[in-house]
Order: sequence, then structure tokens, then C-alpha cells
Amino acid sequence: MIDLINKLEKNRTLTLEEYEYLIVNRNKEYAEILAEKAFSAKQRIYGDTIFIRGLVEISSFCKNDCIYCGIRRSNKKCERYRLTKEQILECCREGYSLGFRTFVLQGGEDLYFSDDFVCEIVSEIKGDYPDCAVTLSLGERSKESYKKLYDAGADRYLLRHETADKEHYEKLHPSEMSFEKRMECLHNLKEIGFQTGCGFMVGSPYQTAKTLAEDLKFVEQFKPHMCGIGPFIPHRETPFASEKAGSVELTCYLLSIIRLISPSILLPATTALGTVDPMGREKGILAGANVVMPNLSPADVKGKYEIYDNKLTGGAEAAKNKAELECRMESIGCRVVTDRGDFVKERM
Ligand code: SAM
Repeated sequence: MIDLINKLEKNRTLTLEEYEYLIVNRNKEYAEILAEKAFSAKQRIYGDTIFIRGLVEISSFCKNDCIYCGIRRSNKKCERYRLTKEQILECCREGYSLGFRTFVLQGGEDLYFSDDFVCEIVSEIKGDYPDCAVTLSLGERSKESYKKLYDAGADRYLLRHETADKEHYEKLHPSEMSFEKRMECLHNLKEIGFQTGCGFMVGSPYQTAKTLAEDLKFVEQFKPHMCGIGPFIPHRETPFASEKAGSVELTCYLLSIIRLISPSILLPATTALGTVDPMGREKGILAGANVVMPNLSPADVKGKYEIYDNKLTGGAEAAKNKAELECRMESIGCRVVTDRGDFVKERM
């Protein structure tokens, strides 16, 4: 194991079998060694800084029916809402005054958010706050659509691949969704010029060490600028209601491996990590993450974007409680900065 860890640190690549071996044979001691190496790799590139993003959940309407997701269209109990352009701009105004310099507009796949409408919102945000980055996370769209959003000024796009194993993908999604389309979208985003983020849930139903090894290989080969990983958490109104949640321990272990594969990657300690463990975000940062995404959505809709049970909305998760987040990051030797927090191209 130690040889493998050193090899990963040095070469930033392992075979599929080696990744699988690293996952199957993990223990506390190896996790600590990996985390230490990952944390120093992050320090080498980004120092003690932690980037923050203001997350605005613009719509809980979704035309998709992903089996794991609480806002899937079949969940008739989900309270649907969509924010107006004015509400979104108000979130950004509040976020800017709090010190956020990246706004992430995320939502279900809601046809109401047409290309023209999203472009209008993006250009207004960029016009009002030229020193800010806009990240979109609005699911699968055509290449032409992504290009329009990019030309309107969007800087980054997050689209988790969910799993790099086709068979596994098909067990998590209805038949009208396809693994190939997901991958094609990711390649299109990167080709257009977005800082592109992929990612996956940890502990999703049917996931194995082998499918996780494939995820790591995908990250290694696709070379995303960002990678969002967080534990799967069941939602009571989905077919996966009685499945087990993913663990903080495995999520942190994978965060460390990803940091070593790509030292300059933007790696969030996700809300899901903070939801399954009150110290989850701190543990994620200490394992190599360098981004936190507090919620800027208006108070009256926060509880409605419930993609999994008991999703955190208060405390350091709320953008307005940035001071609490700052203290928590300081307690582990890190510093929240007012910065766009762009991907840094590594000097080799
Ligand atoms: N619709 C957009 C998309 O598909 O990329 C963005 C919104 S989607 C709700 C954002 C992410 O939430 C998904 O990529 C998925 O990984 C995560 N997610 C959904 N349900 C989850 C669950 N039950 N547990 C943990 N994460 C979940």
C-alpha cells in the first residue's frame, strides 16, 4: 500500500486494478498518510486559502427522473419553485456584499430556463459584477446551448458524471437517460472552454470498489478543472429510500486520491459531507478539498431544494453565516478568501 501511495503521489496515475486495490485495502493509517500528502499538495498550489462559492438553487422543477434524487419528476410530494431573475440577482447582490466572488446557479432540468433566459441572467450578473465568476449547473443541454451560455459570460459548468461505469449508470437512471450523452456533454463543455467539473456520489447503490476505480481513472484521463464528490444520502420519496448513506470516511479517502491525481483541481467539501457529519466539511478540507459552497438561496425556498433527506441549510451552510464558516476554517489552519477562486494551472 505504501508503495502504491508513493507511486500515485509521484506519477499521478495508477492502473484500474491499483486504484481498486487502494480502495479495498484502505485503513485508518493509510487514510492518514494519503490525507497528509493530499493536504500538502493542496497547500503547495493554493496555500492555506479556501475558496467559497455562493450557491443559488434556481429551480426545483426537473424533467429528469434520476432514481436517487429527491427532486426527480416522479416525486409528487416535492414542492416545486423557480426563482425569478430579480430574485437571482438579489441573491448575487447579497452574496457580493458578503464577499462571494463566484455565484453558482444550480437547478433541476427546468425547460423554463431557456437558453435566452439563462443568457440574460448570466450577462446581467457579469455586467453588475465584472470581477465575479458565474458557474452553471443546469444539467444536460445541447452543445449549441452550452456555447450560448459560454458566450453570454458563464465561466464554469458543473455536471457530475455520477459514475464512470455504464452499467452502474443505468442502475441509477431511467432508460431515457444515457451514459454516452452524459459523457458527450462533459466533453462538449470542456471543448467550448468552460472550467468544467465532473463528479460522483460516494456510496450510491450498486457502487463497488471497481466502479470507484473507474471514476478515479475517468478523473485522471478527463482532467476536469473541478470535481464534486459527496456521500449519497437517501431521500424518503425515491426508490432508494431505504438504501444506506455513503460514508464520510470513504469520501475523504477519495478526496485525497483525487487531489494526488490532480494537485491543482478545485475540490469542494460538499454540503452532503456536512450533512452526514457535523465536522464533515473540516474533514474534507483536511483530506485535500479546497472549496466550500455555502447556500445563498432565499430563505423561503431553501428547504424545498431537497435532493436528499435532512439537507443542511443553516449554520455555516448558510452564506449569511460566513463568519462561522471562517472561524471553522481557521480552526483547521485555513483561510477563507474573497476571490473568484479560479483553477490554477500548475507549473511543472
Ligand atoms: N440537474 C443538474 C444536474 O443533473 O447536474 C444539477 C442539480 S443535481 C440535483 C446536482 C447533484 O446532486 C447531482 O449531480 C447528484 O450527484 C447530487 N444528488 C442528487 N441526489 C442525491 C442524493 N440522494 N445524495 C447525494 N447527492 C445527490
